[in-house]
Amino acid sequence: MQTSEYIAELSKCVRCGSCKAFCPTYDEDLTEPMSARGRLTLLRALLNRQIEPSPALNDRVFSCILCGACENLCPPRLDITEAMYHGRNFLKDFDRRRKYLRLITRFSLKKPMLGYRVAKMLQHAASPYLLKKGLIPFRLPILSHPLRDDQQVYKPEKKIGRVAIFTGCSINFLLPHLGLSLIRVLLRLGYEVVLPRGEVCCGAPLRGLGLEKEASEMARKNHRIFSKLNTDAIVSLCPTCIVSLKVHYPKMINGALADVLDISSFLSDKLGYGQPHPLSSFTSVTYHDPCHLRYSLGVRHQPRQLIRQSGAEFIEAEGEGCCGFGGFFSLQYREISRNLLKKRIDAYTVTDARDIITACPGCMLQLSSGSKERQVFHIIELIEDAIY
Ligand code: SF4
Ligand code: SF4
Repeated sequence: MQTSEYIAELSKCVRCGSCKAFCPTYDEDLTEPMSARGRLTLLRALLNRQIEPSPALNDRVFSCILCGACENLCPPRLDITEAMYHGRNFLKDFDRRRKYLRLITRFSLKKPMLGYRVAKMLQHAASPYLLKKGLIPFRLPILSHPLRDDQQVYKPEKKIGRVAIFTGCSINFLLPHLGLSLIRVLLRLGYEVVLPRGEVCCGAPLRGLGLEKEASEMARKNHRIFSKLNTDAIVSLCPTCIVSLKVHYPKMINGALADVLDISSFLSDKLGYGQPHPLSSFTSVTYHDPCHLRYSLGVRHQPRQLIRQSGAEFIEAEGEGCCGFGGFFSLQYREISRNLLKKRIDAYTVTDARDIITACPGCMLQLSSGSKERQVFHIIELIEDAIY
């Protein structure tokens, strides 16, 4: 977003307050600056030089989870999250609290394999310290091999199409078994699967910290690689990556990618309707909507349909809302994050479903950290179980 567009966006706000309805941070802290309207008012005052950058101001602007729950509620269609990104980009130079987080993130995303090796080497010795210092939200499982290697192409027995996977950092480094599950499902359906050489972070963590320039570099690299693949679709198990590729890249680098789809949308018309699978090992499940899938991509029906088709009993939980992860949000605003997590876990406990299904690796890690009685699975695990 250019500065002129940013000014135009901020001036669209008519202060109606509709954006507060589902705002998780406002729900936890009923003060105006913890809502979208309050944050936008602060950013406007900053732009008009009525206030100066300060730790308190930074704190309010960086406390937005960027969940998107406010986006579709705004009558003049103000692009609230883009305004937040722009504000953070401006404030980053005055923001000492996240200085080291920026340094570490910038380094580890620019040199991901080096960062991965260091993290793997230090994980046992350093985890308690990093947890205490709030530099990781919970003990992260760093496995011996990431999913991506060099260019990988998997051939099905009988090819009906070709699909590229955008693995994203969490699947690649922390949860590669989910990526393998996705590859097996796509092969089973007859898709040739490509994991191209050179994929980098989608850029979302960098943008969230105000590092717009670095995020745009990542976006350009990914765009260059994925636009040349000649595939029927680019799919990912991470809704945040999909939002980056599909929604943010056109705004950041004027670079749209064709046929970018979250996995539930991609598979929703490919597994057959009304054919419950009798052999599923998932008996009863409830479902957690990842914010970026639900709000930014508008995908709510498809995962539920896939769950019902799997043969598992589906029990809808009361209400909906953020699990409190939000990437770095869970590190910086631990109390709010924990409260949000507890609310969702309580809602899923009431359903009495045996397992919790979600469609986002970040939500999966967060919900797992708060759920003692129920296991949390990614929807691709349920799909694989149902079709094999
Ligand atoms: S993006 Fe989410 S946390 Fe941020 S203002 Fe909107 S609803 Fe609130
Ligand atoms: S809903 Fe839109 S117009 Fe209304 S207060 Fe929020 S940002 Fe402003």
